[in-house]
Amino acid sequence: MKRPIVHKFGGTSVRDAERLRLVVANIAQSRREYANPTVIITSAAAGVTDQLVGLRPDTWLETTRLLRSRHLQIANELGLSEKWKADYAAHFDRLLGECPVGLENYDPATLASIHGCGERLMAPLLAEALVQAGFQAEYIDSAPLIRTDNHYLSAAVDLATSKTQIAAALNSILSDRIPVLAGFIGSNAEGHTTLLGRNGSDYSASIFGAGTDAFEVWIWTDVDGIYTADPRHHQHSKLLREISFRESAEAAYFGAKVVHPYTMWPLLESDTNLRIKNTMSPEKPGTLICHEPQDRGPDLITTAIKGVAIVTVGGYGLIGVPGVASRVFGVISSSGTNVLMISQSSSEHNISFAIRGEDLAITLQALNHQLQDWMEREHRIDRIKVVENAAILTVVGENMRGRVGVAGTIFSALGEAGINVIAIAQGSSEYSISIVVDEAQVFRATDAILEKAGSK
Ligand code: ASP
Ligand code: MG
Repeated sequence: MKRPIVHKFGGTSVRDAERLRLVVANIAQSRREYANPTVIITSAAAGVTDQLVGLRPDTWLETTRLLRSRHLQIANELGLSEKWKADYAAHFDRLLGECPVGLENYDPATLASIHGCGERLMAPLLAEALVQAGFQAEYIDSAPLIRTDNHYLSAAVDLATSKTQIAAALNSILSDRIPVLAGFIGSNAEGHTTLLGRNGSDYSASIFGAGTDAFEVWIWTDVDGIYTADPRHHQHSKLLREISFRESAEAAYFGAKVVHPYTMWPLLESDTNLRIKNTMSPEKPGTLICHEPQDRGPDLITTAIKGVAIVTVGGYGLIGVPGVASRVFGVISSSGTNVLMISQSSSEHNISFAIRGEDLAITLQALNHQLQDWMEREHRIDRIKVVENAAILTVVGENMRGRVGVAGTIFSALGEAGINVIAIAQGSSEYSISIVVDEAQVFRATDAILEKAGSK
């Protein structure tokens, strides 16, 4: 048997009956072109997860009524049978018929099982739409197949166990059926539903890709692929034909929205490639994310995270003292803040780090409180400086590696455009350079870099 192609459809691709017909047509087309078995993973219809996340006991009735009618209307418009619709209504009521007690006190286990309902509502609909079009499709509950820890709302995946469970459940049916599964959900060792974190369906798809030893995982979305910069804002941006796993992981981490940053890792050790495809333009090849790109096209990707604060902890008493970084970052992690980027000058009297603006208050509070001894008694730290409303502009490109002059070109482009650079960090892997600039200048900075350094 050939290795399967895993198709993952995002929320906009399944938002109504019209789009679902397109999904069915795209699957039909890909099955005409490829003799590989098919696995399908779906997100919830666009907006549904947000509605579920917003559910409160007092809005329960109204919101679930809207969700019920939206999904049943899709079933109507697809012309599904009365018998099927009655069963589906019962499925809906099992999932969301009653407001669970745990919702009042935000019990994470209860929240996870509610937030994951959007996918569990979409997957059977999509399966039935395929059946109606003549395919042997079958809805299969994905939660028991992906094993996670107990962090209900953003759980860590046990990849080895998940792969074994997926292979055991799917390999035998792939030769004659198309399994249709919900993205976003998994379950812990006790069998309770857990979530892979917001936008986690891409991640689900690559876990299923790893479990079925897929030939490729296709992420269907509403753009043509990965661009050198966000095409909605930068007219000079270009579509990438092929990029490496590392580059796309780096770009996703630094804010490129096309795929979830975790999507790449289940496939790192495999020879399964990922492909980004546009649901509306299935004839286009999209962007291939692969291990050894051959036909790259443009070779720099720019991406930006806005709303960033830069915190600099400085003092001459920090020079040559071992353990400074570990203590400072220990404090930050104790406040629950995620550090996006770090830079330290080799004179060692400053450590700068970038965090999200919304984490600033709690981080400063923790630093002032927990480093009091270094600030007040020992005077090792004499200042904590903050720059708000900054953006991290990251330039990613495997070809930068070992190539002289790329950083020079980037900085001269910024200099010529009159853009002040607040901080810089380059990973020693040389796959990316991150540059902190004023948020108001990030678009201009991106354009300047694309014009000067964005090759081909
Ligand atoms: N429906 C989930 C979310 O909106 C997961 C996903 O779409 O990837 O976060
Ligand atoms: Mg998505």
